[in-house]
Amino acid sequence: MEILKCEKLSKIYGNGQMRVRALDGVDLSVEKGEFVAIIGASGSGKSTLLHMLGGVDRPTGGKIWIEGTDIATLNEKQLSIFRRRKVGLVYQFYNLIPSIDVRQNILLPMLLDNQKPDENRFEELVGILGLKERLNHLPGQLSGGQQQRAAIARALIYRPAILLADEPTGNLDKKNSEEILGLLKLSNKKYRQTVLLITHDERIALEADRIVAIEDGRILSDRENSSAREDSLQKQESLSEENCQKKNRLGEVER
Ligand code: ADP
Repeated sequence: MEILKCEKLSKIYGNGQMRVRALDGVDLSVEKGEFVAIIGASGSGKSTLLHMLGGVDRPTGGKIWIEGTDIATLNEKQLSIFRRRKVGLVYQFYNLIPSIDVRQNILLPMLLDNQKPDENRFEELVGILGLKERLNHLPGQLSGGQQQRAAIARALIYRPAILLADEPTGNLDKKNSEEILGLLKLSNKKYRQTVLLITHDERIALEADRIVAIEDGRILSDRENSSAREDSLQKQESLSEENCQKKNRLGEVER
């Protein structure tokens, strides 16, 4: 099922001498459950593309459909509700609200919508993301990795059609980066969550099932990344082998 589609998407910022063509005729189609990395050098148009697809900003030309809705037909109010419910956004610098605790930050999209929090979804997400002990803390009292996990929980609370992540590991060390990437992949596998991840880092892109390269606002290449699937299968196999070995060792100790 096609969850996201854009056709001939263009975005021009400014005018006269300040005119910048940030996107120049982008066609993209994403199926439900895909994990797509969008890669390109700084200034190539990645963030602009993400902002257009997430309804954060309007394109100059072209069309975008999310779950079949042409988002150009929505007025500002409808678009902000649509964004809150259908698009999960994760940024490099977390964008949590500093004055409210982690619990409220995660539930914010629902609270803004006057919706009763989905407690089951909330409990499951904070469990998976390892935030149970931090719910009453303010964002400033958390590490970078924990803040990003809270931002991911907030992005997923509404079961969005698409999760858009803009350099989500750009501010983290190697260990936390791997953890965050692992959690995004887990959400993709466990919930069939569609993920679009922006990165300038080829190694991170190689974790995705599909890699779209962008240059000067145009799609340069769009390819399946079979190594990610093989890798993930191998990791699962070695993990279950490791678990077996651990169990055997435990058995030996208990005996
Ligand atoms: P990337 O995310 O790949 O680094 P961006 O999408 O941020 O690239 O930017 C693409 C181009 O558009 C760049 O030349 C950038 O300077 C320009 N640009 C981005 N945002 C704006 C803006 N709000 N006003 C004017 N120019 C912008």
